[in-house]
Amino acid sequence: MEERKPKRYLPVLILLAVFAMLTVALIGQNFWLGSKKADGESVSILEKDSFESAAQGQQNLDQRLECLYLWDSREENSQILHEQMPQILRDMKVDFQEIDVSRQEIPSLEGFEKAILGYGDYAKTRDEIVGLSDWVSEGGQLLIALVPEGRGVTEWLLGKAGVESIGGAYYTTTGLRLQDELLLGGVKSEYEISAPFESSMTVVLDDECQISVTSNDESELPLLWQRSFHDGKYVVVNLGIYEKGYRGIYAAAYSMLGETCVWPVVNGSAFYIDDFPSPVPDGENPYIAEDYGMNTEDFYTQVWWQDISSMAEKYGIRFSGMVVETYSGETQGPFPPAPDSQTFSYFGNSLLTLGGEIGLHGYNHLPLRIAGTRKEEAMDGSLWPDAAQMQASLKELISFCEDLFPGNEFQVYAPPANILSEEGRSLIAEEFPQIRAIAGVYQGDETMYTQEYEVAEDGLIETPRILSGYLLDSASDLYAMSELNLHYVSSHYQHPYDLLTAETGGEAGWEEAYRRLCGYADWLESAALGLRKLTASEMAGAVQRFYYVDVERELTEEGLTLTLSNFQDEAWFMARFNDWEPDISEGAVSGGTIEHLQGNLYLIKAEEAEVTVKKKVEA
Ligand SMILES: [Zn+2]
Repeated sequence: MEERKPKRYLPVLILLAVFAMLTVALIGQNFWLGSKKADGESVSILEKDSFESAAQGQQNLDQRLECLYLWDSREENSQILHEQMPQILRDMKVDFQEIDVSRQEIPSLEGFEKAILGYGDYAKTRDEIVGLSDWVSEGGQLLIALVPEGRGVTEWLLGKAGVESIGGAYYTTTGLRLQDELLLGGVKSEYEISAPFESSMTVVLDDECQISVTSNDESELPLLWQRSFHDGKYVVVNLGIYEKGYRGIYAAAYSMLGETCVWPVVNGSAFYIDDFPSPVPDGENPYIAEDYGMNTEDFYTQVWWQDISSMAEKYGIRFSGMVVETYSGETQGPFPPAPDSQTFSYFGNSLLTLGGEIGLHGYNHLPLRIAGTRKEEAMDGSLWPDAAQMQASLKELISFCEDLFPGNEFQVYAPPANILSEEGRSLIAEEFPQIRAIAGVYQGDETMYTQEYEVAEDGLIETPRILSGYLLDSASDLYAMSELNLHYVSSHYQHPYDLLTAETGGEAGWEEAYRRLCGYADWLESAALGLRKLTASEMAGAVQRFYYVDVERELTEEGLTLTLSNFQDEAWFMARFNDWEPDISEGAVSGGTIEHLQGNLYLIKAEEAEVTVKKKVEA
């Protein structure tokens, strides 16, 4: 049974008094924060030509490759995993060779340190599976990333990976429970799977397996474990879900292979407010009126913005507001400036005072896309007639922002409704050089502008948002947890408008929405120590450095040396030390710093192009 939350009916007098107090408090806070510098230094966006072209996990056949990735284009699950796995490896800057076993011979394993088994029907490649097992005995490191099928050779190989028995039916895993410190997110924390299905093998493991993740029910079905085998190691992911939102689990599983695993990360958390500042809706909204007994404008000013401001102060969040100038559906110029510039000025300056940033969402809320020649399309009022009108509207938005917030740069664009056509995108790239980054979404349907953390060929930086909205729950937390473990990044956007509509927050109410937002911020504080709090532009600068940097890892008697290319002023790396502990005492790391996150996971900041980490010498 859901608990009904108490309604808040505040008498008008108390309300006025509270508003007066808040106004005084806000003025005081502006003075205080105005003189306070944000934590740490800011991450600027560098000029496009600062970097040489990125060398992302290229296949370099002259040298020994780190990893062999096997998949089978005939299998549906193998294809689905193949949509993610190469991108995970590229982002981790792993030199790998992929082999589609349906049409390519598996090369000699001798040249590889690690391998990923990314298909499920082992019977087709019986000899090769036996070869893989021999290779593991001799020191090979194998990740079984895809839930296999069948008996015979499958059971035989899984037996080496610690499986004592496999049940006849597949298991519906409804959620994850983290059992140790492998994954960032909190030991014993739980994450719900939004659309569970029979995805996992029902397995019983022997005592030598180290289980890191199980199902979150009583049976605690093993979902991720490792097991040594002679000189080598098996890591098994028994999840059977291969979507983008689960990438971090596969990245973490991969990082368990080998002596150490070091990969570049973004290291940043950003919170965006889309449609803010924007014209505040007139009159009353039934949900707001019922809960707060006030009109929408008063609610925005006296409740919502006050709470967001406290959140910014409490957690050090630097909100980025993405401006919409008008909600008129005008697609034909001239585009007049918004009349109520006072509202924009009040909210915008208040946001800037809190250490936030102003970005661009649109002159109006129409996505940048042009009507085609088809008659019904040309009549569609939500489409622009041509590029010139789109350009004129964006120009007006930028000059409006420049007038209201002089001295600020408006460098990040968030596409309205997360829709951005190719024409719209090239308009931005060609005509608006001051826009350096696009903040779309990480996951979404094919109508949406979905992105990777990368820099596009035209130099625009892609800074996807992972979470959105006011109704954050345990299923969305899973995506957040996943991305902490791959890119060490968090990104969320809210739309104050969502509080005015039943299913996006109106029904639940702001009190509940705010509780969830703060709950997420609390979780982030505990799960990701030292995660940098960034504005939209700083996130873009961080993605730029993450994307371009490449790393060569060299293991030595004393420890580990990282040699970076495309290094600018700083770069961040996640490092897992599987076989030894690094020395984290003052000055032990040259060329940078190291910080312990949890378990055998560390965060390295490179300050020079060569970083040396020493093994800890036992006293
Ligand atoms: Zn919007």
